[in-house]
Amino acid sequence: MTEAQPEAACLFCKIIQKKIPSLIVYEDDRALAFADISPQAPTHLLIIPKRHISRLADLQSGDEELMAHLFVVVQKLAKENGLLESGFRTVINSGEDAGQTVFHLHVHLMGGRVFEWPPG
Ligand code: 5GP
Ligand code: ZN
Repeated sequence: MTEAQPEAACLFCKIIQKKIPSLIVYEDDRALAFADISPQAPTHLLIIPKRHISRLADLQSGDEELMAHLFVVVQKLAKENGLLESGFRTVINSGEDAGQTVFHLHVHLMGGRVFEWPPG
């Protein structure tokens, strides 16, 4: 298996490449944000790196700035959606036990309702 194969098969890489349509709300050279297809809150966005990273567990030295950038995008989108004062939930599922279903690292940004703690 070549290294290119997982990325070629990756759903979110196809969204980055615009081969699969999505409602894109933010894009720059390193990050993309789009609406979750099955929203669990009035605002439910996914913020992803354009570079394919499968899981949070696979981060490497050198990824610090990229991850920080993703969270600056999260904050910008939370602000645009009027969530800064009311609050919002960010989630990164890493691996099967956490319920990760798409293996391209993504930050869930959810808001517009009250969330429970602890999560299920
Ligand atoms: P995970 O379960 O891996 O943390 O989150 C994957 C998320 O991707 C889910 O919330 C799911 O609804 C979303 N999702 C799965 N397929 C698609 C798709 O084709 N387009 C969009 N916009 N979201 C998707
Ligand atoms: Zn990918």
